[in-house]
This record gives sequence, C-alpha cells and structure tokens, in this order.
Amino acid sequence: MRRVLVANRGEIALRLIRACHQAGFEAVAAYSNADKESRWVELADDAVYLGGSPAAKSYLNADAVLDAAKHSGADAIHPGYGFLAENAAFARRVAEAGLTFIGPPAEVIEKMGDKATARRMAAEAGVPVVPGSDPLSGAGAAEAAAREVGFPLLVKASAGGGGRGIRPVASAAELAEVVATARAEAAATFGDGTVYLERLIERARHIEVQVLADDHGNVTHAFERDCSVQRRRQKLIEEAPAPGLAPGLREAITEAAVRLSRHVGYRNAGTVEFLVAGDEFFFIEMNTRIQVEHPVSECVTGLDLVAEQLRIACGAPLSVTEAELTGAAVELRINAEDPALDFRPAPGELTRFDLPGGPGVRVDTGFAAGDQISPFYDSMIAKLICWGATRAEALSRARQALAELRIEGVASTAGLHAELLGELADGPVHTRWLEERQVNCSNS
Ligand code: ADP
Ligand code: ADP
Ligand code: MG
Repeated sequence: MRRVLVANRGEIALRLIRACHQAGFEAVAAYSNADKESRWVELADDAVYLGGSPAAKSYLNADAVLDAAKHSGADAIHPGYGFLAENAAFARRVAEAGLTFIGPPAEVIEKMGDKATARRMAAEAGVPVVPGSDPLSGAGAAEAAAREVGFPLLVKASAGGGGRGIRPVASAAELAEVVATARAEAAATFGDGTVYLERLIERARHIEVQVLADDHGNVTHAFERDCSVQRRRQKLIEEAPAPGLAPGLREAITEAAVRLSRHVGYRNAGTVEFLVAGDEFFFIEMNTRIQVEHPVSECVTGLDLVAEQLRIACGAPLSVTEAELTGAAVELRINAEDPALDFRPAPGELTRFDLPGGPGVRVDTGFAAGDQISPFYDSMIAKLICWGATRAEALSRARQALAELRIEGVASTAGLHAELLGELADGPVHTRWLEERQVNCSNS
C-alpha cells in the first residue's frame, strides 16, 4: 500500500489524510462540486473530481469513486463513515479491482452491516439481543410478530443508519400503517425495504464497544463509549469511558463485543452497539467502519485508531494486544443546526470560526472561516474533544473550550452544549434525556 484514496469529506477526510501522512502513505482527496475549495482537498497530495454536489453524484457514486482511484494511481480506498462505508457491494468491487478496501472484507460487511442479519449473528454468538422479530415477510406477519415482541415497539429498517429508518409504534392499532410506511421509506432511502420489529427499551443508555481485529487472529477492544445524549436517534455528545457502570458490566459488554467479532471473522476497526438498562445489556447493531466518535476512545487509550486501520489493511498485526484505559474524554458534535427549531439544519457561510486550544483539547474539523456549510451533506462543522485525568476534568476543559469557541454566520449546537455540560456533571443519562429536556425547556 502506497497511495490511499480518501472517499469522504469534511473532518473525517482530513483525519484520514493526516493518518496516511503519518504512516508514510500518500493521500488522494476525491471531491464534489461543493467541496472544490475545501481544506482537505488542499492538504491531500493529489485530488480527483468525483461529480456534482448531491451525494448520489459524488460520494455515493461507486463508479466515480472507483474511477478516481484508478486514475489517481491509488492502491487503497478508505471510505470513512457514512456514504459507501458499509456498502458490501462496493467493498467487493474495490477488492475485485485489485485495490485494498480499508475496512472489513465484503463478506463480513454483508453479515454485520445489515441489522437483521447482525441480530442473528449476535444470537448465534450467545450475545443478548433486544427482543424482536426476524425480517417481516407478508402483510399479516407484523401482527403475529408484534404479539410476541409486545408494545411499545420499533419498526426498524435493516439497512438503516444515521438514526434514519426507525419508527415507534405505541399500539396494535397503528402497526399495519407504520410497517407499510417504514417499508416504502426504507426501499426509497436505503434501496432495501426489509424491516423488522424490536421491543422499545425505555430509559436505556447507548453504550458501544470499539473493537479492533487483524489478520493474525488478534481481536481486542478499546473499551466503551457512552453515546446516550441524542436527538432524533443521532448522537450529539459521546464520552469514554461510560460513567458509573455497574460492577462487572464493562467486562461483560466488552467481552460480548469481542466474542461477536470473533464469531463473524471480523477484521479492521468496528463498533458493537448496545442498549443498557439497569444491569442488563442488549446488542442493537454493529457499525463496520470507523465511527464519528472514535477520538474519545483514542484519548483514553492513547491509540490512533485510523493508524491501526491502516496497519491492519497492510496485513500488519495490531500495535497492542490489550488496550489500557486512562482518564476520561468527551466529544461534542458542533453542528450547523438550530436547537431552538428542533435541530433544523442551518447551512450557510461560516463567517467566523475561532477554535479553542490548550492541554486536553482537540478539534477535528474540515472547515475554516469563510467556508460554506453545505446543505447537501450532514450538518457537522466540527468535533470538540476534551480529555483529562478524571471525568470532571474532561467536562471542565470542555466548558472552557466552548467558552473560547466563536462561530458566526450559522446557527450551531455550541450554545446548547455549554448548558448540557453542566447538567451532565450529575451523572449518566438515557437516550431520550435530551429530547425530554428540550420539550421541558420550550414549555417553561
Ligand atoms: P456514528 O455511528 O459514527 O456515530 P452517525 O450515525 O452519526 O455515525 O452517522 C455518521 C454519518 O453517516 C452521518 O452522516 C449519517 O447520516 C451517515 N450514515 C450512517 N449510516 C448510514 C446509512 N446506513 N445510510 C446512509 N448514511 C448513513
Ligand atoms: P442507527 O443505525 O440509525 O444508528 P440504531 O439501531 O443504532 O440505528 O439505533 C439508533 C438509536 O435509536 C439508539 O442509539 C437508541 O437511542 C435508539 N434505539 C434503537 N433501538 C432501540 C430500542 N430497541 N429501544 C429503544 N431505543 C432504541
Ligand atoms: Mg447505531
């Protein structure tokens, strides 16, 4: 491996370019119309135009990405997250073109990228899964399955992601209609109308385990992250380690994640996601890719997870057999969204963008003042990651860093984060906590 095509944009594109350079590889950026002038394109060794601004014409266009790799002389492709990252057919085409896909083999993505199949794998591996159904077949299947699962429940698209493709159902009366809508929506959005039912676990925490697996039979974990602060089932704040876990729970969850990864022959970096209620935990899905919130795990283990991905892709062994946990870290997603308007996306020009710094402060962003936050892609402007010897120190550094951050030109989540940090000091929250808080705030 010598030259890596970075098939992504924004902060993760820059993160990947930096990791390539540190490991001694060249990095090629692949960009859309909207991203021509971007910072990551400038910092790459070479850049190839993919197509128009809509993702379907550029970052989601497998033909264009493969052509870009060939024309730029790249011998590997890093898909980042989102877009083509969990597309097994794409991973297969990359391999068939004689290129290295920096991620798991296509067969593994097939098993774990699809939620319904992944649930089956977890059950086979003896990992507890949320009570739920197999993929629904005929029209009558939903009623029978729902009687088993019980209400309230969720209809989930097997190919869903990014918080999309999940619909709650409170009672039997709504079921048929929600299932029909969910099917149609999943077929249109993800190109796969497969849906299944899952019991709604109330007041649960979202806790996920970072795993790493190489070609030499080493499968290990880099501890867990708590990603319970969410809106619309998408994460807004993540931390590592998960605060206040019951004794033995960390060991049980990390062990389950490693067991499942071994069971499916996992390779490269991945994340096994769980819901935790009391002292019980349930598998929900696996993300077969680098995760947005990977930096918090880097802060508490000292690992460079993208560097590990590159090592694994080259056939080298992991740099550690067992990661060690030190301190605590928190990541705040600074999105161009208006929290007062139900987190409505607020694209526009970033007229001012002054970044914080100092010990224990890291900012991952692909943007600079004067850049446009484009309406074509997700609304993340930056990730503010802070760490310290203790959780209290990490949270306090995050408060300080937010006070230094200046964003003008677009509405952002920065101000909300400042409020939330104080409240989070009290301890762990559940996945509906933020939405309930926002309703209470707008009522009072
Ligand atoms: P993470 O699990 O790393 O926290 P997110 O859920 O925030 O990731 O998603 C990261 C990005 O990937 C978002 O832009 C999201 O919309 C996108 N994404 C994730 N899964 C899918 C999917 N199955 N289809 C399309 N986009 C996805
Ligand atoms: P995605 O692929 O969009 O990330 P997930 O299955 O990981 O989908 O679920 C996203 C979020 O939705 C979870 O973090 C959690 O907040 C909520 N969720 C998912 N499944 C359940 C469930 N069975 N009960 C309660 N909440 C759930
Ligand atoms: Mg998820």
